[in-house]
Amino acid sequence: MQPRARRLATEGRTLHVHKELFVGGRWVSPSTNDTIEVISPHNLETIGRVPAAGEADVDAAVAAARTSFDSGVWSRLPVDERISVIRRLHDLYVARLDEIVELQCHEIGSPITFSRAVTGPAPVLTLATFLDNAKRVPWEEIRPGVTGLDIIVRREAVGVVAIIVPWNAPQFTLIAKLAPALITGCSVVIKPSPETPLDSNIVAELTAEAGIPEGVVSVLPAGRDVGQYLVSHPGVDKVAFTGSTAAGRRIAAICGEQLKRCSLELGGKSAAIILEDADLAATAAGLEYASLANSGQACIAQTRILAPRSRYDETVEAVAAMMSAQVVGDPFDPNTQIGPMVSARQQQRVNGYIRLGEKEGARLVTGGAHPVTSQERGWYVRPTLFADVDNSMRIAREEIFGPVLVVIPYGDEAEAVRIANDSDYGLAGSVWTSDTDHGIDIGRQIRTGTFSVNQYWLDINAPFGGFKASGIGREMGIEGFNAYIEYKSIAPAPPLPA
Ligand code: NAD
Repeated sequence: MQPRARRLATEGRTLHVHKELFVGGRWVSPSTNDTIEVISPHNLETIGRVPAAGEADVDAAVAAARTSFDSGVWSRLPVDERISVIRRLHDLYVARLDEIVELQCHEIGSPITFSRAVTGPAPVLTLATFLDNAKRVPWEEIRPGVTGLDIIVRREAVGVVAIIVPWNAPQFTLIAKLAPALITGCSVVIKPSPETPLDSNIVAELTAEAGIPEGVVSVLPAGRDVGQYLVSHPGVDKVAFTGSTAAGRRIAAICGEQLKRCSLELGGKSAAIILEDADLAATAAGLEYASLANSGQACIAQTRILAPRSRYDETVEAVAAMMSAQVVGDPFDPNTQIGPMVSARQQQRVNGYIRLGEKEGARLVTGGAHPVTSQERGWYVRPTLFADVDNSMRIAREEIFGPVLVVIPYGDEAEAVRIANDSDYGLAGSVWTSDTDHGIDIGRQIRTGTFSVNQYWLDINAPFGGFKASGIGREMGIEGFNAYIEYKSIAPAPPLPA
């Protein structure tokens, strides 16, 4: 199948123009004339345009998903057959990986080095890992019942799944849901964020090319109102959501009211605990990725740095030196470490938090809310470090989602653990120490879904997700299938007495 976007070459740049929506595996005319303009955060030029899905498009996509699911055309295929189609999807994805990586860079403004090293390979690895783990799931098992008769325990697809993803890692968050949902036999309606609809349309093309039957996959770029309409739709059995905690609460409330299944991957305010024995130069270098990856627009970013009072000034100095050396600029320049924020709204939000930090009495060590002078256009902000921060300040409690870090002093390790756990969030965390075993022991005391020693790393073969307001449920690992499974027990009748 040929790509459906018209790539118009204008003044040396490419404009990705879609006129149709992918509904039930087919490209169709949208129900309205509304469009979404995709703007480069770097130079504010238009890079693409897609139709904005409306409620009638949601109705059509859910109807197609419902019909395909209930017919069994995909949901009742032997799992091995679904696996071989998803393996084809994996291979097709790999063949277009460079294009997907570049498109995401245009949409989000993430530095190309980060995209090539992380956001490009991660969805591929996720697809491959789910394909491997699918072989280890006991889709149907027989176990002895208490009566002495065998019971059949089946893992069946949950049904029609609404997949709603954010803009900051659109492919990774999408594939983490799409792969287990499709392997399990679900039909899906995907709603990408309006900032990043172009890369999802490539996935739409690939699902058709891989041979996923009609009806099973739809992709509807739209904003939050249409997203909420999709969540509320009676034809949807389950919502798989990644995004802000505020939106997650709203979605959970609707799902609760309707007794709809939902899994939520939400925000974070993770702590990096620096112990007295840490190598500060190595720690500051490690925080460059752990705290500032994707220009700080990462849910797992280690944004609260907890430093021992005995080494407080040294720690602030080392982190400040790392932050002020960051190269801010054109995402496609391989030297760039920090790109622009995704949107004007995000730039205003981050600068608003920087001003708030100053008002709250934190000490601005480097950065600030004034414009990045080397960039004439674009939604750039300065990598900013605050010291002398108290954990009760809003800049220490709320997710900023930009390159803004705070350093909080602590007395002893027990206090460090207490401060790390004193957060509404519980997504990720890290400890920086020369004693790895001791670091692991600290990890056992932290209430977060993932934790790392001397780095932050999310391993795709292990469960990922949040405690507390960071979410409900887990993605990745073999556990990542659970969100798409309904258990069914079948008890054969005992033989009738003679
Ligand atoms: P957002 O909540 O504003 O939007 C996320 C998606 O949900 C978008 O597609 C949006 O259109 C849609 N949406 C918003 N409100 C909705 C509603 N009421 N009903 C249905 N759909 C709705 O978040 P964002 O600004 O796009 O993304 C940043 C957030 O995502 C941050 O909080 C970040 O921490 C979080 N995030 C979490 C993870 C994780 O795995 N835990 C990963 C990436 C991002």
